[in-house]
Amino acid sequence: MKKMKKIDYIVVHCTATLSTASVEAIKRYWREVLGWKNPGYHYLIEADGETHKLQDEEKPANGVKGYNHNSIHVSWIGGVDTDGKPIDNRTVKQKAALIGQLMFLKRKYPNAIIQGHRDFPGVKKACPSFDAKAEYKKIGEIGDLDPKTEKRI
Ligand SMILES: [Zn+2]
Repeated sequence: MKKMKKIDYIVVHCTATLSTASVEAIKRYWREVLGWKNPGYHYLIEADGETHKLQDEEKPANGVKGYNHNSIHVSWIGGVDTDGKPIDNRTVKQKAALIGQLMFLKRKYPNAIIQGHRDFPGVKKACPSFDAKAEYKKIGEIGDLDPKTEKRI
């Protein structure tokens, strides 16, 4: 069996675009403007909650310089207002999809720390425009349900 990549961080991002930005436009920007071979995130969540897988978890995404070899990056579309200022404008569906995605990843990588892009040293950005570390502190603490007995383990 193939050894799984060691993941130390599950990183939450926002795209710092308007909520209406399309997945295609974001991917085109990485490719054509920034010249990136890899996408910026592994998972990207639209305003309607639809989650797009953009990169295999075994492969890197360009989320946080210096931490891409040991991180999984999850982003929601939005995070700035019409003046480009940071704002937490996540929709209810985005919030639900984020929690679902983070729970899934935390189960897969139980030792990984969930934090925002801005929680890494030296990062000057507001990304993901809310306190991810505080909001998702409980994920993984509550314990999982045993799929057979549906009791907490
Ligand atoms: Zn970010």
